[in-house]
Amino acid sequence: MAGELLALNYMTRFRCSGSRCEDHCCTVWNVFVDEAAYRRLESAASRSWVSRDKLERALERPAPSGWYAKLRADEDGNCAFFEDGLCSLHRDLGESCLPGPCATYPRSVAHVGSRCELSGSLSCPELARLCLREPDAMDFVKVDWETLPEHCLVTSEVPETESAYTRRFDEVRRLIFDLLCLAAYPTAERLFFIAYFASQVSPFFHGGSNANTGVLLDREMRRMRDPLLLGELARQFRGLRVPSDFALRVVLGMIRSSLSGKRGQRHRELCVKVLRAYAPHLSDLIGDAQSPVPEVGLEEVVEKYLRGREATMKRFGARVEQYLASYALNYWFKELYTRSPDLLCHTQDLAVRLAVIKFLFFSHPDLAAHVAEGETQVDAVDRIAVEVVHTFARNIEHDAELLNQIRDQLGGDLSHLVCLIRF
Ligand code: SF4
Repeated sequence: MAGELLALNYMTRFRCSGSRCEDHCCTVWNVFVDEAAYRRLESAASRSWVSRDKLERALERPAPSGWYAKLRADEDGNCAFFEDGLCSLHRDLGESCLPGPCATYPRSVAHVGSRCELSGSLSCPELARLCLREPDAMDFVKVDWETLPEHCLVTSEVPETESAYTRRFDEVRRLIFDLLCLAAYPTAERLFFIAYFASQVSPFFHGGSNANTGVLLDREMRRMRDPLLLGELARQFRGLRVPSDFALRVVLGMIRSSLSGKRGQRHRELCVKVLRAYAPHLSDLIGDAQSPVPEVGLEEVVEKYLRGREATMKRFGARVEQYLASYALNYWFKELYTRSPDLLCHTQDLAVRLAVIKFLFFSHPDLAAHVAEGETQVDAVDRIAVEVVHTFARNIEHDAELLNQIRDQLGGDLSHLVCLIRF
């Protein structure tokens, strides 16, 4: 690899927790191996019959087109190489033998113009901790390529096209970062600024737009740097009346999918714990994940949720703002907006994720106990935030099908976005 490698600061602190990890990643996912990786493994394993035998039992062929083999899972869903809380490939044959996806996770490397960018998937609990807890986690730093594991993959890229949507990537995303870092405004208002900007530019600035949108885009970008406009938008946002059950329905739809999904046992347990806190209104969803979101009782659920949110923000508001802003920054850095049809859809995907995270966090029964106690329990609140974010990410972020379904249902509409951001 050549060129600059730009990272978010928290990535420089990452060390896999190994057997101490509370939710190891050698499970459930489909991991495919290319031929080069297979040959590396074969050659390393040839030195011992135990490794050779293990290799044959742990790899499944044929694999989908483009791949050579697939890592087999045992009856618990764990990778066949997972032993005593560790990857036995890593332990016995060394890191250089790991297939690309295993060497890369939880890193995410994106190719952007002449540089690469390093961020991380918050489905790894250690990365979620580093990202959410440290105030300087989201600073940009240049890092040495040598710090990446051998065979680390580039996982996404901004395509080089004539479209303004890809050519103006750096400037547009810089503006979004700047809006997200406006400490004078709560995170919800910063997200509203982005949603507003996205709604203004999406009609002419999208995946199919041509190169001639420069003047319009420049004008909208200049407007978004005007403090008077931002002040006015914030004032309007605070005064908006939005139906409170819309966002709750979206959130419960996502939770229902989590309950019936195959991955993320810990996330399912968390969802059940939270739904129980809203008994009897949401109890049917626990017993039967296919049952529809209830028509009655949602007002009580919303009221209870808002009371919990207010009490938590009174005690831990600054800390929670940090979690939300860091999550949002990580999203805009890691998830390249060019993979979405337009900025409005991309902002909506973030708003949906944050709405589910907020619901699970503010409704978490353990949080209520800490809020009720007199002392400040920041560490305990951090633990709850990490649990919510990492289990949610493990369950949802790797489920492209579900995210696409939600995207189609909501359809990139500013009024829907406002409901989600206000939730
Ligand atoms: S989830 Fe993260 S900390 Fe845990 S085993 Fe995987 S990489 Fe290591």
